[in-house]
Amino acid sequence: MNKGLLFVVSGPSGAGKGTICTKVIETTGIKPSVSVTTRAPREGEVEGVNYFFRTEEQYQQMIASGDFLETAEVYNNYYGTPKAPVFENLKNGYDVLFEVDVHGVKSIKKKYPEAIAIFIMTPDFKTLEKRLRARGSETEDSLKTRLSAARRELSEYKMFDYIVFNDKVEPAVQEVLDIITAEKRRIKNNEDRIKALLEEK
Ligand code: 5GP
Repeated sequence: MNKGLLFVVSGPSGAGKGTICTKVIETTGIKPSVSVTTRAPREGEVEGVNYFFRTEEQYQQMIASGDFLETAEVYNNYYGTPKAPVFENLKNGYDVLFEVDVHGVKSIKKKYPEAIAIFIMTPDFKTLEKRLRARGSETEDSLKTRLSAARRELSEYKMFDYIVFNDKVEPAVQEVLDIITAEKRRIKNNEDRIKALLEEK
């Protein structure tokens, strides 16, 4: 059996990566990864579904125990991807897809170069600003911070394998699905299956 593929999705806040990831996971049955965070749960978020919510002390304990595939500080909170479930799924032939910030992509690529990194971006910065404003939760200051963070994130484009411009959600979801299909059809990801075919009587 071939190992599963690891897809990591990143991009600026407001680009729509969360929505896209949720839809792709719903459509494909690809395995998500539930991150651990020290930030407080938002209205409607469920422990173990959206995140594992932990105190900073518990989080540091997990770092010390080597529980994370990667960990990063994003907007004054810690976020990390638990290592064991990701590798367990990949070993069992399941593809995995999850969202991380750009630092997370860098750490994952370092530890697991086969990871396929997808950057989700709005068609332009004006649209990004409009979407952030529409959330209604950003102050002028935090808006500025997020927009300049977005430029910094995009300038790291070379470590990504794909970029999807999220103008409308449905076509953007389809593009991510197409990327997944293309990666799954690579010869190198099908060698076990091809060899089994060749042995068929
Ligand atoms: P939020 O607090 O809005 O859920 O997420 C804030 C940021 O943290 C987003 O950019 C999201 O991609 C990133 N993030 C969520 N989980 C992880 C993770 O496990 N690792 C890293 N590096 N970033 C994460």
